[in-house]
Amino acid sequence: MTDIQAIVHPFDDAMGFAQASLDLLVDQHLAPSPLSYTVAYSYASGAIADIVGAVRQRLDSGQALDDDLLRTLFERHIGADRAAQLRSVGHDLKQLLLLLIRNLNQAGEGTAEFGNALAASLQRLDGAVDAPALRSIAGDMLDATRQAQQRNDQLQAQLRDTVVETEHLRTELEEHRRAALVDPLTGLLNRRAMDARFDELLAQGRVFALLMVDIDHFKAINDSHGHALGDAVIRNVADAIRTCIRGGDHAVRYGGEEFLVMLPETPLDGASKVAEAIRTHIHGLRLVRKRDHFRLDPFTVSIGVTAWLPGDNADGLLQRADRALYASKNSGRNRVSVLDGTA
Ligand code: GH3
Ligand code: MG
Ligand code: MG
Repeated sequence: MTDIQAIVHPFDDAMGFAQASLDLLVDQHLAPSPLSYTVAYSYASGAIADIVGAVRQRLDSGQALDDDLLRTLFERHIGADRAAQLRSVGHDLKQLLLLLIRNLNQAGEGTAEFGNALAASLQRLDGAVDAPALRSIAGDMLDATRQAQQRNDQLQAQLRDTVVETEHLRTELEEHRRAALVDPLTGLLNRRAMDARFDELLAQGRVFALLMVDIDHFKAINDSHGHALGDAVIRNVADAIRTCIRGGDHAVRYGGEEFLVMLPETPLDGASKVAEAIRTHIHGLRLVRKRDHFRLDPFTVSIGVTAWLPGDNADGLLQRADRALYASKNSGRNRVSVLDGTA
């Protein structure tokens, strides 16, 4: 029995033998199947002496070759076992291909080319019983798989880049969105954000309170010590407000040195206490300029407090909070005034 895989010829010789094998099969009106081709090739190349002898004997006697003779020669000299073995390899390949194609169908587009290559291999497998055919099919599958793997690697890399880029854009967008709603000097909400909070609170239709906070005689601080120190005072007032409110409350820089605090679910008396806490906290601040250790005199804020009543809109509420604030200013500053909406 001959190991067919051991038969290797230089390329040009092999091409000549292949042509001669096909010519023989055509002359003899035999269909070129893997089996008939393998026997014809063994004869044409002279690789298997027993086959050469048997074929020559048949031709010399003026008889035609037929499928039965070729099958007999194949089984005798090349090996039925080998054929069975190859069929089993073919079967394994077929199972693998069917699995791959099923998976590819689920993977969707982009893998179509690979799927087609595998489908073609599958078709060729049905007729293949010999080693060269299986080897060539397996080789093609390997090529197609490598190409698909390469494309897949590229796609994965692209996907990774896209994820990173998307994350970057998302962060940037988040930053822009945040910046659009936040006052840069204090980090408190700006008026645009305040409008949105008003919409939410008014839509809920539940009680909430407003504090309007204004720094007393701020112009004098600016004029005496400079704009930079004025800014520092504004930042410290913002920090004090943040310190005195709860997580669900909203602090807004409403104007230059004016602040608004929105306290959801808070009635007037609770809001007055928060306002008083803010006022005393600010009154207790002792600011020292780093550069020259200049100590700023204590400063104060005036606060107006009011609460939502059914039928109130944002403008009405703000006006009432403003009126409460001016009550504090007019009665001496550094104090909290409350307007309950019935006044
Ligand atoms: P009152 O006690 O009545 O509130 O007097 P005031 O001086 O605090 O109020 P006024 O409205 O007369 O002055 C507010 C000053 O705040 C005028 C303006 O130049 C200053 N200002 C507004 N925005 C800023 C800012 O962002 N930084 C600084 N440093 N000053 C500001
Ligand atoms: Mg002021
Ligand atoms: Mg003011």
